[in-house]
Amino acid sequence: MSEPVTRREMLGHAARGAALLGLGGTATYLIVKADRKGVWYLDINRCINSRLGATGVPVCEKCATECVLSLSAIRAVNDHAKCGRCYICPGYFNVTSAVDEDGLPSEKLCPRDAISRTPIGEVDPNDPANNYYEYTIDEQRCNGCGKCVMGCKEPAGLSSIRLEVRHDLCLACNRCTIASACPEDAYEHRPPGVTTAKNEQT
Ligand code: SF4
Ligand code: SF4
Ligand code: SF4
Repeated sequence: MSEPVTRREMLGHAARGAALLGLGGTATYLIVKADRKGVWYLDINRCINSRLGATGVPVCEKCATECVLSLSAIRAVNDHAKCGRCYICPGYFNVTSAVDEDGLPSEKLCPRDAISRTPIGEVDPNDPANNYYEYTIDEQRCNGCGKCVMGCKEPAGLSSIRLEVRHDLCLACNRCTIASACPEDAYEHRPPGVTTAKNEQT
């Protein structure tokens, strides 16, 4: 036979039950709130660092400097399917720097040393231009300054590097401080579940 439940124990069970119900309610509320929030998207066709035709203009670094987070939620992404794996990548090298003893630009473009260059297959020293390299961005280091994006833009590169809002890092602020500062109006706030821009919808 089970032990009789004292009034004190009964009150304890009731309090825990109420607390759990309360927590459940709060969790549901938070999910609903987050779900209603929507997210910010960056239109790379508007961003001056990636917009085709905008060449010879200064790099815009506002995505790196205007985020409320100390390391911006905007990061560079290299689309490997599009990347030419170039011997001299204009997004990796500062192609205007002096040439070193290997015939390569002596300076890198990224101020945070966030891009690595790894040879693909065996390197043929007699035919350097026919060697290929993988360029990988270290997202822990990148702050979205956009320099590599501008460097890789056509016609110098193949436009394989772009800036992206990292939704796993972004706080989805109601008023994104980068969006407010963006000189190209490249940010768009989209409701939950909407992944295409207004001008992309059919
Ligand atoms: S603020 Fe606008 S123009 Fe500047 S880098 Fe960001 S998206 Fe591009
Ligand atoms: S966006 Fe800036 S920090 Fe990030 S990889 Fe490109 S050059 Fe480096
Ligand atoms: S919404 Fe907030 S956290 Fe996200 S990119 Fe804009 S300023 Fe940064």
